[in-house]
Amino acid sequence: MKVSLDTLPFRNTFAALPTAFYSRVTPTPFESEAHLIHFNTAAAELLGLDPAVQHDPRFLAAFSGQQPLPGMDPIAMLYAGHQFGHYVPQLGDGRAIILGELTNPRGEKWELQLKGCGQTPYSRQGDGRAVLRSSIREYLAGEAIHGLGIPTTRALCLIGGRDEVYREQIETGAMITRIAPSHVRFGSFEVFYYREQYDHIRTLADYVIDQHYPELADLPDRYLQFLNEVVERTANLMAQWQAVGFAHGVMNSDNMSILGLTLDYGPYGFLEAYNPGFICNHSDHSGRYAFDQQPQIGLFNLSCLAQALLPLIEVEDAKAALSAYWSDFTAPYHRMMARKIGFEQADEPAIKLLESLLAQMQQSRTDYTRLFRALGDVQRDGENTPAALRDLFVDREAFDGWLADYRARLRTHAKPDAERRAVMMATNPKYILRNYLAQAAIEKAERGDYAEIDRLLTVLRTPFDEQPNAEAYAAPPPDWADNIQVSCSS
Ligand code: AMP
Ligand code: MG
Repeated sequence: MKVSLDTLPFRNTFAALPTAFYSRVTPTPFESEAHLIHFNTAAAELLGLDPAVQHDPRFLAAFSGQQPLPGMDPIAMLYAGHQFGHYVPQLGDGRAIILGELTNPRGEKWELQLKGCGQTPYSRQGDGRAVLRSSIREYLAGEAIHGLGIPTTRALCLIGGRDEVYREQIETGAMITRIAPSHVRFGSFEVFYYREQYDHIRTLADYVIDQHYPELADLPDRYLQFLNEVVERTANLMAQWQAVGFAHGVMNSDNMSILGLTLDYGPYGFLEAYNPGFICNHSDHSGRYAFDQQPQIGLFNLSCLAQALLPLIEVEDAKAALSAYWSDFTAPYHRMMARKIGFEQADEPAIKLLESLLAQMQQSRTDYTRLFRALGDVQRDGENTPAALRDLFVDREAFDGWLADYRARLRTHAKPDAERRAVMMATNPKYILRNYLAQAAIEKAERGDYAEIDRLLTVLRTPFDEQPNAEAYAAPPPDWADNIQVSCSS
């Protein structure tokens, strides 16, 4: 049964916490008329919402900040965080507002958060707005990462206005409604640790455990178990990002989800020409958040969280929880990477083959996604190197050598070709959200044409499927893509 806008059972459990955790705020609508740019039917279904609500004027009014729906209780969350390694004592939702939670017919709770809806007490110097460009990027990324099977926030809708928003250039404002079981971040705990408000740490931990880790609620060492869980989920998330080639770009501890979700899409990027030191964020001059640094930064952020939990956990226990990180990361990472080349066992020979392949890819700047996808078609008893693969390398003889070793191992240690191929095609996506694809959708949208957003989302929903009409979306980046600059400006 789908619910209509009149009967939406909104609650806001976070707003039931003491007021130290948030500020009650009212969204600030655009001065211009708002219009619906995209409605995410898949997300609506997840919330148990009838997709027909998108045609109801009250929907547009609610999700453009004009008129909340009955039961919504808008608040901005307080948090702090380590940004580029330095503690910043107060951040908080400076341009995002939690509207409330919905429980879908399956009993799953979803928090709805409107982003770009004006200033809050945490806006600092910011205008509380989000530009159309970055809103499209966040909207697309949530669906793309979800399509790849990686935990993430998603978005229900994208709404545009005509208000001018000042960044490096004048742009127009937009709002997205993000959805996640919770938007609590590592930084939500840190703020109370540095303020020495230890009771609040306990209250917040109890809240998160009750709502999101109920299986831990009755354990005598529940805070430690909670930390263990977050360590494991974060390690898993990092393994998934690394395997698929996703770079987040701003892994500050305030952008780290307490549920292990990919959170806060800004200057992210997917690996194209393979370069482990890939920096997607043009504002990240030191490369702190380079692609190959992410696992280590995951641990750094977890240690910020662990420190903030010290009033609840013994130091030695916290250290032990963190010490599980590398095995929690490496086991799934190696399993996924071995599977990318067709082996079920992530044993030493498989990892060696992988490493020598990656070294050749780095030298040749081979497209990460296209290479692994093409590798699925290798026949273990074949003799020649297929041109589609060989052409991806500069030193083709070296690749011929690698392929011979690979085939030898396939013959003895992998499933027969057809079975292995099926696994590889379900592991190595054909379609990823390349910057140039997002950019094309953005440029069209800036001219008032939103069709490309929908088209791209459709392709990215099933990234492992061959989509004969979408071949162009799997193409490597054109030359102009080199000039796309993605920064923190959003
Ligand atoms: P981000 O880099 O987007 O994760 O944001 C870091 C912090 O800056 C968060 O507290 C945001 O709410 C805040 N912030 C970013 N952009 C704006 C803006 N335009 N207006 C107000 N606050 C912002
Ligand atoms: Mg953020």
